[in-house]
Amino acid sequence: MSYQFFNSLSNRLFFVVLVTSLILGLMISSIQIFLDVRSAQVNIEKQAHNLLAMMKEPATQSAYNLDRPMAEQVVEGLFQNEAVFYAAIKTETEPSLAVGKKPLSDFKYRELSNLLFGQSLYFSLPLEGTIKTRLSDRSEYFTATAHYGVLEINLDPSYATLALAERSFRIIFSGLLQSTTFGVVLYLIFHGMITRPMAKVTTSLESIDPLQPSRIQLEAPRGHESDEIGTWIKNINGLFLTIENHNNQRRVAEAHVERLSNYDMLTELPNRMLLNKRIEQSILEADHQNAIFAVLWCALDDFNSVNLLHSYNAGDRLLLSLSERLQNEMQSIQTISRIGGDIFALVLPNISTHLEAAKTAQRVLELIRRPFQIEDMQLAITASIGISVYPHDGATSDELLKHAENVMQLAKAQGGNRYQFFVESVDQKIKDTKRLEKSLTAALNEEQFSLLFQPQINLSTMKISGAEALVRWHHPEKGLVPPSEFIPLAENNQTIIAIGKWIIDESCRALSLWHNAGFPHLTVSINVSAIQLHQSNLIRVLKDAIKKYQLDPSTLILEITETAVMSNLDAAIRMLKHIKQIGIQIAIDDFGTGYASLNHLKRLPFDKVKVDKSFIDDMLEGPENATIVGAIIKLGHNLNMQVIAEGTETLDQIEFLQKAHCDFAQGYYYSRPVNSNEVITLLRKDSDSAPNSNLFPLNPPEH
Ligand code: C2E
Ligand code: CA
Ligand code: CA
Repeated sequence: MSYQFFNSLSNRLFFVVLVTSLILGLMISSIQIFLDVRSAQVNIEKQAHNLLAMMKEPATQSAYNLDRPMAEQVVEGLFQNEAVFYAAIKTETEPSLAVGKKPLSDFKYRELSNLLFGQSLYFSLPLEGTIKTRLSDRSEYFTATAHYGVLEINLDPSYATLALAERSFRIIFSGLLQSTTFGVVLYLIFHGMITRPMAKVTTSLESIDPLQPSRIQLEAPRGHESDEIGTWIKNINGLFLTIENHNNQRRVAEAHVERLSNYDMLTELPNRMLLNKRIEQSILEADHQNAIFAVLWCALDDFNSVNLLHSYNAGDRLLLSLSERLQNEMQSIQTISRIGGDIFALVLPNISTHLEAAKTAQRVLELIRRPFQIEDMQLAITASIGISVYPHDGATSDELLKHAENVMQLAKAQGGNRYQFFVESVDQKIKDTKRLEKSLTAALNEEQFSLLFQPQINLSTMKISGAEALVRWHHPEKGLVPPSEFIPLAENNQTIIAIGKWIIDESCRALSLWHNAGFPHLTVSINVSAIQLHQSNLIRVLKDAIKKYQLDPSTLILEITETAVMSNLDAAIRMLKHIKQIGIQIAIDDFGTGYASLNHLKRLPFDKVKVDKSFIDDMLEGPENATIVGAIIKLGHNLNMQVIAEGTETLDQIEFLQKAHCDFAQGYYYSRPVNSNEVITLLRKDSDSAPNSNLFPLNPPEH
């Protein structure tokens, strides 16, 4: 039987029931047949004894009388029974008084008959009579049994076997029929009550959607609602419901994890991870279509000041509005992603030329520049964008992003609010910058720095009142690197802290040199960068230097730019107050170029204001520019500050500033930055001349 047949429970049951009932039927039939054989044997014996008993009288007579004809008649009479095939009456004197024989019948079940009963059955009956005798000397009679002969018969049992065989066949046949019928009926009952309803349930189970298993409720087959099948189905339905609830919860959790890992929490824009995937996808598509696409790295210019001047909440609101604006108005951009504080990356698919990317970048810049209404404020911000184009500017997502970021920095360094494409030469420049930044660490140990000092002139006495320390870096390969180039790098990698400490020490050393040379009132102005200002160690460094060179703290002036103060206003105020407590003076550098407003000036403990060179440059160009400088000077004085004009290059400028009551001037007109010994030379020259003698310009060249 095939494997398939046995896969069906009904078939298997049918087979088992059938075989079992057939075996049982056969066993019961065999017992019946066995009992039947036993009773047939008894019957044959009974029949033989009856036969012999019936013939006993005449046989005894014939044996007693040795009456052969009579004996033959008896034998003939015995042959009336068809089972008898041998009969004989024997006496002692006549061993074959009468003998009859006939051949065994030609019987088809002979073998079976021989097996059950043997070939023939032999029976014999002694032929006896009772004799009364009297002993001669006695009068009573004795009875004695006299033996005359024997009557023998052999029976052929096959006659009995025929009937027996027919009966046996009937028994077996009916037994088997009964068992088969029983098997089939049992099968039908089982099939109807269990297998068929189960098959129905199984079929409806197939229609269950594994993702939403409880969407279809399984129904119990009719009549099985409350039995085990019904209960089973109820439990299955319950189980499916639990599974589906569980699935739903898992899906919600997975979606949440997906959002967390792929999207930015604030703006809900794709994050860096998803951006990488999108760029990789764009690479595949571009390769396939032989197309190019652009990646824009867009960073806000000076976003930090929004956070600081307003609040972090306002900063967040600005980022959110910006992301909404980008999404609503820049639909040609395939992916807009936020990958860091104020950094967005955009993917422009399928551009045909670089120009297209440039136009989009320009639109993004304009869109960002439009003021944002945050709460009741209008905030304006600009951005810098670096653009890299696949495949020219990078083969992988990482490369494209890195190059776009690098050129963004370049755009920012050029003043921001602009975009810049990646080009190999630019990349080289960035690499050089990074190398330069690295070599800064060794520069201090290898004494590659030197300090120059630019005199500051008191405009009422026209004599040197102090000097500003300006650092110089003599790079072993590149030669002189201007501070505007390396100071930002040193701020970037924090080496400014060590370099700054050296500058403070070196400036104080120079100052004590000048004081000892007979100019005890001279001041030194030291430029302090934002990083230094927010370093708690600064106070310690200043105090140490003052102590080491035994200086009057008020001869020290720290120059701090507006941006350094504004980047963290509260911390700056705290630090500046601390510095003031020591007695050191503070000047605000580059005034007018940053965010500092009158309000801020009031809160900060400045002693001096340095008017930025750009104002001095334009001062004589037109009446408004002159008014601005005049206003700054007045403003400074009103706030009890002295005013220094920096970058003064001409006599006209000096005369104008004198008239405007500016306190000090510093610039090439008098002197370029010089070393500390040359400052002494200048001081001596200065003191030799008469007061207000306008011996200027001193103007020695810068070394
Ligand atoms: P700053 O503090 O505004 O320094 C004045 C800059 O203007 C100096 O450039 C000086 O050489 C230059 N200058 C002075 N007078 C004139 C003039 O009449 N005409 C022109 N065209 N330029 C004039 P320098 O030395 O290249 O310094 C540039 C900037 O680097 C400084 O600007 C300052 O921000 C920074 N810096 C210089 N030395 C140091 C320092 O020791 N520490 C820190 N943190 N920054 C420094
Ligand atoms: Ca300065
Ligand atoms: Ca300045």
